[in-house]
Amino acid sequence: MIDHSAYKDLSITGRYITQEMLEKTCFSKLPVPLIAFGNSVDGKTLYAFKIGSGHRKVLMWSQMHGNESTTTKAVWDMVNYLQSDDSLAEQILENCTLVIVPMLNPDGAKAYTRANKNGVDLNRDAKMLTQPESKALRQLFKEFQPHYCFNLHDQRTLFSAGATDKPATVSFLSPASNEERDVTPTRETAMKIIVAMDTLLQRLIPGQVGRYDDGFNDNCVGDAFQMTGTPTILFEAGHFPGDYEREKTREFIFLALVEALRTIALDKIANFSSEDYFKIPENDKLFFDVLVKNPSVLNPELDEQVVGIRYKEVLEGEKIIFEPEIVETGPLEGFYGHKNLECVDSKDFASGILDRMIVNLLLQTKK
Ligand SMILES: [Zn+2]
Repeated sequence: MIDHSAYKDLSITGRYITQEMLEKTCFSKLPVPLIAFGNSVDGKTLYAFKIGSGHRKVLMWSQMHGNESTTTKAVWDMVNYLQSDDSLAEQILENCTLVIVPMLNPDGAKAYTRANKNGVDLNRDAKMLTQPESKALRQLFKEFQPHYCFNLHDQRTLFSAGATDKPATVSFLSPASNEERDVTPTRETAMKIIVAMDTLLQRLIPGQVGRYDDGFNDNCVGDAFQMTGTPTILFEAGHFPGDYEREKTREFIFLALVEALRTIALDKIANFSSEDYFKIPENDKLFFDVLVKNPSVLNPELDEQVVGIRYKEVLEGEKIIFEPEIVETGPLEGFYGHKNLECVDSKDFASGILDRMIVNLLLQTKK
């Protein structure tokens, strides 16, 4: 197993990653020139770079959703690894040419929003191409003519890997390319690469890999690129217990990226079966960040209820604050908490600042 810590780029950590941060640190360390391939709504340059010299072409883009930075961190770790003298890294660069877009939505990244500066979700703009970022990515795709695409995202903490108490720490999708969701040869290729990554990840995070449903939407970039016959994989970085900064998930995405490239570079795709893709559990939405049992100890109005709390991610200065919000109360059977508070007496709430926020929230809640 590759030692991630040897390649981890410590200049970018946590959830708030902006283009300015990349400009100050990561960009200057690149061994290749940056390619300006467009501008954001707010006039920021959209950057890509090309590494490797092989005939298998891979296009990947991260932070199309501005507040989804985990894969951006993992991509830089991957770039660090690929520049090392590890023999696999050398083989990948000999056999593949990678065009990497580290941040497709720098305005959204700055504001910590999913959408771009015009409030448009760039992953729902693949058909109409109304936004400059969407047009630039499409143009890059047309010029480079990749054989494979990686569409890199974060997912929320509510996802479970199937109807289980395991969080979906990493999820994948081989998007559909028609309404019928036919398993075309293109989709099948993407599925096999996903199976290669799942096989590796199951050793590290057993039961914590999920699969997204493949409802067809040609306004999504993955579906649109898959339609052109280019195997396209959606990566989703999710929750690992206790890891709200997503530094642990970053490692799993790093390992998955390298494994996908290894599978492509060393011609291993045919070793995997698309049938195994369907054995990956489909994501369910069974998690709250915190489940509070017996909250009536604190607030009698919440008698016989379970309180489900999710954190809202709020940008304050250059940091993301996790603000608890009560999103559901009721019996909440069959749901799980990343943290469970069995409220036998009020002392159970006394530790830590987040818990104090939760206590206040519970005290303020009316039936
Ligand atoms: Zn996303």
